[in-house]
Amino acid sequence: RAGTSMEPALLFFSEEMNQRAKEHLRIESELRDALANGELQLYYQPKVSLRSGRIVGAEALLRWRHPVRGLVSPGVFIPVAEETGLIMELGNWVVEEACRQIRAWQDANLVMPPIAVNLSARQFDRGLPQRMAEALQRHAVHPEQIMLEITESLLVRGAETVIAIMNELVAMGLALALDDFGTGYSSLAYLKKFPISTLKIDRAFVVGLPHEENDCAIARAIVMMAQQLRQEIVAEGVETMEQMTFLRELGCDQLQGYLFSQPVPAHDFERMLREGRRLALPAAN
Ligand code: C2E
Ligand code: MG
Ligand code: MG
Ligand code: MG
Repeated sequence: RAGTSMEPALLFFSEEMNQRAKEHLRIESELRDALANGELQLYYQPKVSLRSGRIVGAEALLRWRHPVRGLVSPGVFIPVAEETGLIMELGNWVVEEACRQIRAWQDANLVMPPIAVNLSARQFDRGLPQRMAEALQRHAVHPEQIMLEITESLLVRGAETVIAIMNELVAMGLALALDDFGTGYSSLAYLKKFPISTLKIDRAFVVGLPHEENDCAIARAIVMMAQQLRQEIVAEGVETMEQMTFLRELGCDQLQGYLFSQPVPAHDFERMLREGRRLALPAAN
C-alpha cells in the first residue's frame, strides 16, 4: 500500500481500471459462450465497381447477438478478444463460417465474387497458411474466393517473417488487402515490399470528400500511389453521391459503404447477388 496520502484522482483512476478489467473479463467469458452457443454471425457488405456499378466482392463482418445485450459491435469485443488471445478461436470461426457459406452459395449455383475476411495481427503467424489451406479444403472452396484484409500494424512488425507468410498465402492463391489505409504508420516506400493487391482507403479520409481539402489531397495521393503500385483501390465508408463521384473521377476502383448497402445477413446479400443489384452511376461525360 502506498500509504494514506493517495491522490483522489489516482484512486478514481485505479477504480476505473478495475472496472475496465472486470468488463474485459466478463466480455471474454461471454465470448467463449457465444462461440459455443452460436451467437456469432457473419454479415456481408458488398463492394461495388465504380466502372460497372456491379457487386464485385463483399466483406464479411462479425456480429454478436448477445442474448441480453442485443447486437454487440465488433469495435467492442474484437479488441478484448485480441488482448486475451481468444481472437485465434474467433478468427478460426470466421474463416470456417465464411468458407461454409461460400460453399453453400456455390452449391446453390450462385456466381460468387471474392469474400474478404478480416484478420487480426495475432492471427498472422507461421501456422496461418496451413490453417487457411485446411479450411479451404474442408469446404472445397477455391482460394480465389477468399481475400484477407490485414492492417498496417502488421507491416511494422518483424517485416521478414510477415513477408514470408504473406508470400505463402499469395502463392496459395489468396489475395491480400490492406485495410484502413492511411491511419497507421507504414510509409509509402515500405508498402511495395509486401505482396498486397488491394488498398482500402479508410473512412476517415472519405468522410470529408469533396469539401475538405486535406481529405481530397490524401485520397488523391493514395489513389495515385496505388495506381503506380498496380494495386486495386477500394474506398471505405462511402455514404454520399458526392463522395462517390469524387472518388470515381480520381480513378478509385471500388466502393464500399452505406451509399450502396450496409452490412447485411447472408440471405440479404444472396438476394442482392441474384437480383444483380447495381449502383446507379452518373452518366460519364
Ligand atoms: P473494418 O474492417 O474497417 O470494417 C469496416 C467497418 O466500417 C464496418 O464496421 C462497417 O460496418 C463500417 N462501414 C461500412 N460502410 C460504412 C459507411 O458508409 N458508414 C459508416 N459509418 N460505417 C461504415 P463494423 O462491422 O462495426 O466493424 C468494425 C471493425 O471491427 C472492422 O473494421 C474490423 O476492424 C473489425 N472486425 C469486424 N469483423 C471482424 C472479424 O471477423 N475479424 C477481425 N479480426 N476483425 C473484425
Ligand atoms: Mg476490413
Ligand atoms: Mg476497413
Ligand atoms: Mg476502417
